[in-house]
Amino acid sequence: MALRNVTGARCTICGRVTPAEPETTVCPHCGGILDIEYDYDYIRSCFRKQPLTERNDPTMWRYLELLPVEGLGTRPRLRVGGSPLYQADALGKELGIRELWIKDDGQNPTASLKDRASAMAVIKAGEAGKTTIACSSTGNAASSLAGNAAAAGLSTFIFVPSRAPKGKVAQLMMFGATVILVEGSYEDTFRISAEAIDRWGWYNRNAAINPYLMEGKKTVSLEIAEQLGFRMPDYVAVSVGDGCTIGGVWKGFKDLYQAGMIDRLPRIISVQASGCCPINTAAAAGTMEWVPQEENTLADSIAVGVPRNPVKALRAISESNGVIVNVSDEEIMAAMRLLGRRAGVFAEPAGAAGTAGVKKAIETGLIEKDASVVSIVTGNGLKDVNNAIRAAGEPMSIRPELDALLEAFEARDIKIPE
Ligand SMILES: *Cc1c(COP(=O)(O)O)cnc(C)c1O
Ligand SMILES: [Zn+2]
Repeated sequence: MALRNVTGARCTICGRVTPAEPETTVCPHCGGILDIEYDYDYIRSCFRKQPLTERNDPTMWRYLELLPVEGLGTRPRLRVGGSPLYQADALGKELGIRELWIKDDGQNPTASLKDRASAMAVIKAGEAGKTTIACSSTGNAASSLAGNAAAAGLSTFIFVPSRAPKGKVAQLMMFGATVILVEGSYEDTFRISAEAIDRWGWYNRNAAINPYLMEGKKTVSLEIAEQLGFRMPDYVAVSVGDGCTIGGVWKGFKDLYQAGMIDRLPRIISVQASGCCPINTAAAAGTMEWVPQEENTLADSIAVGVPRNPVKALRAISESNGVIVNVSDEEIMAAMRLLGRRAGVFAEPAGAAGTAGVKKAIETGLIEKDASVVSIVTGNGLKDVNNAIRAAGEPMSIRPELDALLEAFEARDIKIPE
C-alpha cells in the first residue's frame, strides 16, 4: 500500500528509486542506503504553520504529513519527542556566543534522541506484520528500542558491545529485552546482529540499514523549527557516531525547506571525539573515502570506528556548508559540567559533545560570536553515572558531626556568610 505523501526511496549511491515498503531496507540494485522521498507539492497543500500551532499532540507524531507512516494504526504508547528547547543565556554568555539554545533530547521516554527512531521502527514493524525487532547498538538505540517495543507489546533481541555503560544495560533488562553482550567492538556487534537478523527474519532496527529511522530522527529538527517560530538559527550542533543522527537532523531542515515552511537552512556543526572521528576526518579532507579508526573515547554513544551511515553524514556536512569540530574527552567532560552548572541539563558524554564542539568552535573562531546556535543534547547523564562522577568529581564525606562539617568546609575552602 502506497503512502500518499511518499514518492519512493532513493539510493544514496546509485540514485535509483525503489518503492517504499514497510520492510524496505537497502537498495536492491547496489546495496546502498536509501533515502525516503516525499511529494512536497502534496505536503505543501496540507501542512501549514498556523494549523500546526493548533494541534494538541505534543509528540513527534504531530508532523504526520512529513512522516512515512500510514496514520497511527499501531498507536505509539510512549510520549516520544516534544522535548524542551531552552534559551541558555548563562551558558551562552560563558561560551561567548550571542544566542545559545539547548534542545534537551535526554528528556525522551528512555532518555535519548534514539527514541525518535525506535518509535518509528515499532510502527514500521507493525505495518510489516512483525512481532520481533532486533538491533545492534552502542547502547541508546538498544534501550530505546527495548522500551518502545515493550510499550507496543513486541519482543526484542538486542546486541550491544560489552563496554556499554551499566545504566543502558539496566534499561534493556528492565524493558524485558533478550540482551546479548558481545565481547568485541561495535563493529563486531553490528556484524553478528546482521547475521542473526538474516537467519531469523526479525524486523531490522539497525539505523543505517533502515531508511525510516532517519525519518524519525528528523523530527528533532521539525520541533526546533517550530519552537523557534520557524526562524532558523545560524548553526545546529550535534554529535556524530554512525552518522544517522546528523543525517536526520539535516533531512528535517531540508524537508521543511522544500515544504516551504522555512526560508533558509542552518549550517550543521558536526562534532566527533578526537579519539574516534572517521567522519570528520573524511569531511575535513573533502572526501567520501573515510578510513576506520580506533574507538578511543569515553563518549560510548559516538565511539564508532566504522560508521554505518557515512554517506548521509558527509552529505549533511557538505550540503549545509557545515563546521567540523573534534573534541577531547577533557573537553567533553568540561561541557558536561557547564551544561549541568549553567543550564541545569544533565548530559551523558556523547550528549554533551555537541556543546563541547560549540565551545571549541567559538574559541577557535570557526563560528562567529554574534551567531545563534542550537546545540542538541542527545542523551541523559543518568545513563552513565560513572563518567558523570568522573567529570563532576566526588562529594565531600563527613562523620555526622558539626566539627567534621566545619573541617570539611575548611579543607575545601568553602566560606559561608554568617
Ligand atoms: C547514537 C547517539 C549519537 C550519535 O548518533 P549516530 O546516528 O550514531 O551518529 C549521539 N549521542 C547519543 C547520546 C547517541 O545515543
Ligand atoms: Zn543503489
